[in-house]
This record gives sequence, C-alpha cells and structure tokens, in this order.
Amino acid sequence: MDVQRWLVGHFTVTSVVEDEVHHIPPELFFPAARAEDVARHGWLVPEFADPQGRVALRVQAFVIENRDRYVLVDPCVGNGKKRAIPFWNERSWPFLERFATAGFTPDAIGLVVHTHLHADHVGWDTRLHGGQWLPTFVKARHLYTQRELDWCRRGGNPGLDGVYGDSVAPIIDAGLAEIVAEDTDLGGGLRLESTPGHTPGHVSLWIESAGQVALVSGDFLHHPVQCAEPSIAEVGDEDVELAQATRRRMLARAAESGALFFGTHFPTRPAGRIERTGESFRFVPV
Ligand SMILES: [Zn+2]
Ligand SMILES: [Zn+2]
Repeated sequence: MDVQRWLVGHFTVTSVVEDEVHHIPPELFFPAARAEDVARHGWLVPEFADPQGRVALRVQAFVIENRDRYVLVDPCVGNGKKRAIPFWNERSWPFLERFATAGFTPDAIGLVVHTHLHADHVGWDTRLHGGQWLPTFVKARHLYTQRELDWCRRGGNPGLDGVYGDSVAPIIDAGLAEIVAEDTDLGGGLRLESTPGHTPGHVSLWIESAGQVALVSGDFLHHPVQCAEPSIAEVGDEDVELAQATRRRMLARAAESGALFFGTHFPTRPAGRIERTGESFRFVPV
C-alpha cells in the first residue's frame, strides 16, 4: 500500500493504516441503515461502498508533522490486545512496520492526541514486553480529557473492554499522561474542539496553517454515507441524539470553512472537502 500524505499549509498529514475492510453489510455498524439506503448515494461508489451498498471502513492513525514536531492522532487497535470484538482480538498487524516505512520512529512522536478512548483509538500506545503493557511512544505527552478518562475507567461499553487497564493506565503510570480541556488550543496551529455524542468526552482536531484549515474527525462521523444522512447512528454512539447534533454542526462548519476533512475511519481516500447539498452534505475526496 502506498503511503498517503496531504499538505495543510506548513503541515504534512500522513495516514498510517492498520486495517481496511470492504463489502461490509452496513447494518453491522449502522443498525438502522440497509444496503439500499447506502446504494442510493451513487457518489459513494467505488471508494466508500460497492454498487450493492456494502460499505468499506478503515482503521488508521494520522501523523501530523511540522518542522520537527510530530503529533500522532488515534493510534488504532494495536497488537495482542484481548478484545471481545473478534476482529480486534489478539491481532498482529504490521502497523509499526508501516509507520517506519512512512518515515517515522516511535521516539520522534512528541504528542499523542486521542479523539476518544474506544479500543481502536488507543491500541498502539502500549506494547507487551515480558508480560507487561509498556508505552510505545516514550517521549510523547499523551492527551486525555477528564470526562473521557472517567468514562473509560468505568468501562461498560463493548468498545472499551480492558482498554483502561492495558492501554491507558500504563501511560498514566509512566508519567506520560496529560489531562486537557475539551476545547483547547494546543499551540502552533493545532486546536481541540469538543464533539460529544459518540462518547462523552470526544474531541476533534483542527489544523490551521498559512491560511489553510483541516479537521480530523475522530468518530463523530464514521463513513461518508453519514454526510448524506447525518441522522444515521453508528453502533458505538453512546448518546445518539447528541451525536446527530454534533455531526450536523461539524459538517456545516467543515463545509463553511472549506476545511480539508480527514475521516478517521474513511477508507481508500480519507481526505476531502465537505460540500453542502441542500439540507445534507457530500464528501468529495481529494
Ligand atoms: Zn469510537
Ligand atoms: Zn473508531
């Protein structure tokens, strides 16, 4: 797989892919959606869905770099993690090899941003060494919001089994964790914005540089079909109504600002523009 990179002003954004699956029946992730609901939106084919309306989804992290600053966003599922979801359980993906091929080393990462703490957004933060989960990005500050941390510690979500113990607590124990407000200017052109609903303390990341703007979604939106139909809930959305409101608000903001939109779970061509079409939206990959 070729390495995908995009420029946002003085930043370079790189996708590091853990996994991508095509031809998924949409109701597996979007319980109220049927294949025919997806197939109605012909612009989704072939990048994001097949002609039958089965969807594709990707698990990827983004590395955002500017001069010697390397920021990693949402480091995927990870290897060897025991998870109830079978396709995430005890996997062995060549993620760190792809990370190296893209030109990165774990020690170069200075900041890890988590849009939220589902299992597919924190996994590579730790690796198993001699029976212990230890930090991978040992020189990085790892950012968390308090609400998300509290919610994750309590567990209870199917996407959360064991996450706190194997992927968050070792970071805190190593002194690499930092709690930030949900709306936070991280400096140097990076800013977090609160985007709750999918999870309580969910945030998204804005990038601004040299007059250009980009937005890394996290999971307030999983698939481009939700641009066309923002009411479609994802199976993991904790507060469905709040998630719908957040989706509409952020899609409007992305469309108005002309931001380059990075869909965290978008497959094939995950960066593009959001265009308004009457009451809904459309994703145009670049
Ligand atoms: Zn999620
Ligand atoms: Zn996710």
